[in-house]
Amino acid sequence: MAQWINDIGRLVIPTPFPVGDVNLYVIKGEKLTLIDAGPKTEEAWVALQSELNELGLTLSDIEQVILTHHHPDHVGLLDYFPADMQIIGHPLNERWLNRTEDFLQQNNDFYQHVLTEFGLIQYYDKVMTRLHSELAYFCDRSLAQEICEGDEPPGLKGWRVIETPGHAQSHIGLLRESDGIYIGGDHLLAHISPNPLMEPPLPGQSERPKSLLQYNESLDKLSRYPLALVLPGHGEVFTNVNEIIPQRKKAQHERAMKVKKWLMEESMTVFDICKRLFPKAYKMQLPLTVSETIGQLDYLLAMGEVNEYKKDGVSFYSSQMR
Ligand SMILES: [Zn+2]
Repeated sequence: MAQWINDIGRLVIPTPFPVGDVNLYVIKGEKLTLIDAGPKTEEAWVALQSELNELGLTLSDIEQVILTHHHPDHVGLLDYFPADMQIIGHPLNERWLNRTEDFLQQNNDFYQHVLTEFGLIQYYDKVMTRLHSELAYFCDRSLAQEICEGDEPPGLKGWRVIETPGHAQSHIGLLRESDGIYIGGDHLLAHISPNPLMEPPLPGQSERPKSLLQYNESLDKLSRYPLALVLPGHGEVFTNVNEIIPQRKKAQHERAMKVKKWLMEESMTVFDICKRLFPKAYKMQLPLTVSETIGQLDYLLAMGEVNEYKKDGVSFYSSQMR
């Protein structure tokens, strides 16, 4: 149900994804701004209009949409919006919103390469079918304007963009400096730890971004801001940022140390570790569980806790007894 939180409207929109509902926010700035759009379903479209009505607004009041990141539960519904709606976000949204043949080919090649390296090339077709079916939930739009670290978004005086890559390369949050209200997207949620999703290399680069390391850096970065109230992309609003950040980092560190223990006993591939970390979930959620697994290995490698060697193009990880 829609509600006002101080002067910011919160709209709760259903999604067909396991994460459940998504929160959109309305800011009455110099321009009436919607933060995120919701998933591309009829149900979400109906819900958006009734939630806006509950706040005394209609769709035609919205002058621009700012995206926290490019994931389908946040952007898909843009396809239902008027074609001239101003869409604003980090430049790295664009490759997912306006998917070129080149990018799709790059994405296929990337998975071919990493799935070989991870020891699960036999699942290539399954993974690609899954990823392509998810692309159907994205929108076909283009950014009208780009915003980056430190920018004041157009039409939102007093708000500041904070880049928080990790869960998505395009991820940003918006901080109102006068009172510490922070619209945080999916980076920090009260009830769950978001997946550090693997993405193909950024334009001009050849290596994939190390999403979990970025995610942790973004947590450290946020802990340096005076955040009074977080308005997240999923779940309830919260204030206890300084409790949640160390909890998240501790839980992730412990998971990595569990993996390290296994690697002290035997060498394993990413897929071996993935199956052991997620014995049930890996079959249904292969891309997500692989992202989570490679994140732990990137973390252990960065700490010098494990080493990696290659055999026939497949990476093996091990940890010497210390
Ligand atoms: Zn997301």
